[in-house]
Amino acid sequence: MTDLTNKLTIVVPLYNEADSLENIHRDLVKCGEQLAVVYSIQLAVIFINDGSVDETWERLQDLDPSPVSVSGHSFSRNFGKEAALLAGLEAAEDDSAVLFMDGDGQHPVDLVPLLVGKWLDDAYDVVYTYKENRKGEGTRYRFSVKLFYGLVNWGTRAEIPSDAGDFRLLSPRAASALRQLPERHRFFKGLSSWIGFRQTGIPYVPLPRSAGKTSWNFFSLLGLSIEGLTSFSIAPLRIASLLGICLSLLAFFYGAFIIGQKVFYDIDIAGYPSLIAGVMIIGGVQLLMIGILGEYIGRILGELKARPVYFVADSIHIDEVIKINKSASSKDNSPSKSKV
Ligand code: UDP
Ligand code: MG
Repeated sequence: MTDLTNKLTIVVPLYNEADSLENIHRDLVKCGEQLAVVYSIQLAVIFINDGSVDETWERLQDLDPSPVSVSGHSFSRNFGKEAALLAGLEAAEDDSAVLFMDGDGQHPVDLVPLLVGKWLDDAYDVVYTYKENRKGEGTRYRFSVKLFYGLVNWGTRAEIPSDAGDFRLLSPRAASALRQLPERHRFFKGLSSWIGFRQTGIPYVPLPRSAGKTSWNFFSLLGLSIEGLTSFSIAPLRIASLLGICLSLLAFFYGAFIIGQKVFYDIDIAGYPSLIAGVMIIGGVQLLMIGILGEYIGRILGELKARPVYFVADSIHIDEVIKINKSASSKDNSPSKSKV
């Protein structure tokens, strides 16, 4: 072990993944042994239990010890996947590369050596993956994804590749750059593009979930999209300004047209319907724009309050559990740590 020169930490967020945990743990340990031989990598795995309400945390403590260093941190409640990714990033050692992958088996572990190869052989700093084909997804969903990335990338220098997921590897210096970003509303995919360095993508086909069910629904996805958009781009504000300009121009020309009709042809315009239509359009647009402004004010307030992104209630290192078991102590003695 001592002559392993490269460090890699794999961060796995877990929310109600009790039934997938053993599979992913077994696959990662196997992968770690392979990486040690091929790339001289010392692998560490960090599981983040994001306030699961099933047996995820209990099963994590029961995992078999292995040559791979495995640790787990359990949040005080469900803080969301972005918070879990940040916790893993902060728990990883400074000189280690960090790879993020889901705990539900959808991100193929077989791909890990390929990502590592891009980092160590080709000297890339950010190796992201993108879904090779999204044919299984409805056209409406694909259109929403296109629209989202179109808006986020509008006028930005650091373009976020569309279809790229959270399954990605960051070299030690890229991970360190990501750690330095202080914001609390984090849009991980965006931030890891924003930091720059040498980036490359590799296509993959997501596997079906090994167990359990997805925790996303239409509204949580919509929430994440709004969060991503407003924390990362000012495109909605720009659209508001452009719409304002267009409506003002329209109103100006329409006003000129009405005056022209009256002055040159003596035609009176029916006042009531056009007035109501105008008022409703302006009212609707104004409400929409106030809503958009509100989203940004909410973001500012969130950042201003500067609350911690997560709290860790319990931490565990698999070897420590073994030690505790051997000395016949109870598991309640497992070390705990809170992140402030
Ligand atoms: N996840 C999490 N906190 C949450 C929701 C999800 O840590 O509040 C984890 C989940 O356990 C999984 C990953 O994030 O490892 C992706 O979640 P999911 O499979 O539900 O999303 P999908 O693959 O459908 O995008
Ligand atoms: Mg999944």
